[in-house]
Amino acid sequence: MKPELAILVRLQGIDLELHKINEEKSSAPKHLEGLQEHLSSKVAELNELNERITEIQKRKVDVEDEFELENVRFGKSQKKLSSLKTNREYQALQKEINEIKKANTAREDEILAIMEETGSLEEEVKEKMKQVKQYRKEIRAEKKRIKELEARLDAKAAALTEERETVSKDISPDLLSKYNFLKDKRGCVAVAAVTDGICSACNMNIPPQLYNELLRDEKIFTCPSCQRLIYALEVS
Ligand SMILES: [Zn+2]
Repeated sequence: MKPELAILVRLQGIDLELHKINEEKSSAPKHLEGLQEHLSSKVAELNELNERITEIQKRKVDVEDEFELENVRFGKSQKKLSSLKTNREYQALQKEINEIKKANTAREDEILAIMEETGSLEEEVKEKMKQVKQYRKEIRAEKKRIKELEARLDAKAAALTEERETVSKDISPDLLSKYNFLKDKRGCVAVAAVTDGICSACNMNIPPQLYNELLRDEKIFTCPSCQRLIYALEVS
């Protein structure tokens, strides 16, 4: 292989590693993003539960107040019963008393139902708070993991970039700019080995005449199908 090509192959190795590092870095926060989404939906659910509790507690206070007021009215009416002169008056007041009693029984039922609902809502709140706490813990750990990973990847990338600069110095500017152009256009693979007349990057056949020239290794050729820089790799 021509020495310049050998250097390009090395450069490509560095670039592929850098490419991998970039991909790893950009996909690193994926899991964290998922966790943060879970957390915010749990927090939203928690807020809804707390709002519902506040709402029904307010209703409970109102119903309790009504109950007390009506209870006072109930007592007064009952006292008044004995002082009534006519049967008609008596019956009318008795009817009123029964209605108060009925309404207050309904209020008591409502208060009990609210207490029951509050109890189960509070259980749900407890459960959700546990989940929120768990997600927050996982998020902290995940942030730490990402930070460490990024630091590791950055150090690796810095070393590779330095190596890349050193290696690039040994390649002629023309060939280097051709390489860089192809690298950007061809998914980071600018140099390809040809084995048994087939380009390893695009899997197309190299015309026999070109392949023979390639085997002589006197010049740098490109693949007629994918335009990548090619070299012959003979497998025994
Ligand atoms: Zn090709």
